[in-house]
Amino acid sequence: MFELIKLPYAPEALAPAISAETIAFHHGKHLQTYVNNLNAAIAGTTFEGKTLEQIVCASEGGIFNNAGQILNHNMYFLQFRAPRENNVPTGKIAELIDAQFGSFEAFRKEFSAKGAGLFGSGWVWLSADAEGKLVITQEGNAGNPVTKGLKPLLTFDVWEHAYYIDYRNARPAYIAGLWSIINWEEINNRLK
Ligand code: MN
Repeated sequence: MFELIKLPYAPEALAPAISAETIAFHHGKHLQTYVNNLNAAIAGTTFEGKTLEQIVCASEGGIFNNAGQILNHNMYFLQFRAPRENNVPTGKIAELIDAQFGSFEAFRKEFSAKGAGLFGSGWVWLSADAEGKLVITQEGNAGNPVTKGLKPLLTFDVWEHAYYIDYRNARPAYIAGLWSIINWEEINNRLK
């Protein structure tokens, strides 16, 4: 049985980038529903006992959608910490971003544009490929780059439920706010 992840911060800790009310709905209601749905859908199937990654890479339809959404949201919620001014990358991920995109600003601009420009519901991702090269990709609905052999490092949820309470329809403002709460130590851990 999969369980709702516990957040490593208080519900109000991410404000103003993400409010406690959004956490209550997004983590407490939307993510809980995906967990409940997946547990019900895999009961008595060969997916019982498998990891989320294994299920996402081997399923389709409702099982894929719910497992993908749990995997995506776990990565999303666990990459945040309380807002910091000038919250720029550190360590290995900073070196890789500078080497490949020229600067953090250039990377942030491209990633933000791909998040704002994704039509409909989905996710924008920074991943590493098999050679360690960084790639930015868009995934619709519950998609996750693991199905393409990539290692996901950072993701922004651009489903409306992620921002409608705090930003209404202003997806670019939501994306701009998220840069202040990225825990770059966690992103470096995912690189290892
Ligand atoms: Mn979401």
